[in-house]
Amino acid sequence: MSLRLYNTMSAQVEEFRTLRDKQVFMYACGPTVYDYGHIGNFRTFVAVDMLQRFLRQSGYDVHYVMNITDVDDKIIRNAARDGVSVQQYTAKYEKAFLEDSAMIGIEPPKLVRATDHINDMAEFVGKLLAKDIAYCSDDGSYYFRIAKFPAYGKLSKKDFGGMLDGARVDVDEYDKDSARDFALWKAPKPGEAFWQTSIGPGRPGWHLECSVMSMKELGESFDLHAGGEDLVFPHHENEIAQSESLTGKTFSQFWFHVRFLLVEGEKMSKSLGNFYTLRDLVLKGYKPSSIRYLLTSVPYRNQLNFTFDGLKQAAVSVDRLRNFRQRLKDKNFPSGSDPAIRTLAHETITHMREALEDDLNTAQAQAAIFEMVRLANSALDAGKVKQNDVAPLLEGLSKFDEIFAVLEDDDRPKMKAVFDWAVGEGREKEISSELREGIRSAELSDSDIEQKIAAMEGARKARNFKLSDSLRAELVAAGIMIENTKEGARWRRK
Ligand code: AMP
Ligand code: ZN
Repeated sequence: MSLRLYNTMSAQVEEFRTLRDKQVFMYACGPTVYDYGHIGNFRTFVAVDMLQRFLRQSGYDVHYVMNITDVDDKIIRNAARDGVSVQQYTAKYEKAFLEDSAMIGIEPPKLVRATDHINDMAEFVGKLLAKDIAYCSDDGSYYFRIAKFPAYGKLSKKDFGGMLDGARVDVDEYDKDSARDFALWKAPKPGEAFWQTSIGPGRPGWHLECSVMSMKELGESFDLHAGGEDLVFPHHENEIAQSESLTGKTFSQFWFHVRFLLVEGEKMSKSLGNFYTLRDLVLKGYKPSSIRYLLTSVPYRNQLNFTFDGLKQAAVSVDRLRNFRQRLKDKNFPSGSDPAIRTLAHETITHMREALEDDLNTAQAQAAIFEMVRLANSALDAGKVKQNDVAPLLEGLSKFDEIFAVLEDDDRPKMKAVFDWAVGEGREKEISSELREGIRSAELSDSDIEQKIAAMEGARKARNFKLSDSLRAELVAAGIMIENTKEGARWRRK
């Protein structure tokens, strides 16, 4: 079996093939760094992260590039409003994007910035101009002549019959049902940032940067291009038009689009008050691993309805996995092996792979690991797990985690970083008591905790219950959960 993926271009699930054997060249449209990223953005970025992780797990060498849009209408407007340069304005949000991506377990792609490629973009417009595909308007802006690209609409399946030759639009996002010559390059407006280039002064349009940077990094034809579903039209349609009319080659073989996330059943929007950045959720006390888990729990083409109940449920799921792994590590097992357990572990690995090969069915892959955990927990309770069964079970978990990335217990330091950021920004008021409580346990190191537990147990054995109770109370107050087992006290952070 091999990976089957939905391709927006063919509107079908297809076998995933690459142009260069076991190598994948892929590009995702990245963030516009004019604000903090919201959970919808991260649904898309996490879905693409899982795709690239699964491709690596399947033996591909993955070249994954993402752009940072650090110049566009909104950025220029906001920078001018704040009286700072475009670079000063975007630096803060670019840094935040990198931190947030790491916080939510995204393996970093190669990142390329629009403002580092202004000359490449001007040259590209020059080439389109030479072919009469681009033209210059009276004010010095350049437009793409849609009439020169008859296949326009092939990705979004829109029929643009009867479109007006020469009608044009110069905003980056426009009326979804009309085709217009779109801006490649915009002439400077008074008070706005611009660059001096071979085609004159101005700044690039948004669509142009992705064509130029993706082909520069990955070649004129590459394997896969990704983004949220809103990008199909006009952004990706325009990228195809620009690139293919110049090269005469297929731009990207596969088009991977992630369905929009809803919040509590509604489109996320600031006016509805259901708009959340990643940091908003951490400020409320939710763990990054819970957020990642929730975002991965619905296959990328299905509607994901984000709810706070779902987020709480995700935390329980992650804890179950982590506790199970801890159980495997804690215990001394009798020697030997139980073939049924080994088979269970191997079958789970196969089921997870089959699920992901089926157009990245992440929900099914999660179901497979939970079935393993359920059965193996009962076997552990019944004392049936032997020494040689532990490695296959841990391997099942680690294959899962290579894609889902939630097992490592590193939520606390990440939450502490958001706490410190909020303090630094003067946003203490937004720090919830849950976050305060959640990070308190981060202040005790593992060895501090272990020392206190040893002291607590020592005191109990010496029948100094007053001391053992007070040590326990101190740990509990710091967010440490303690469980007494036959093998002694077991602890974990709340
Ligand atoms: P932007 O920063 O607006 O350019 O968006 C970055 C990425 O997030 C793009 O791929 C968008 O399609 C995607 N995106 C924006 N909103 C949502 C949403 N609600 N659900 C899923 N993806 C989204
Ligand atoms: Zn793009």
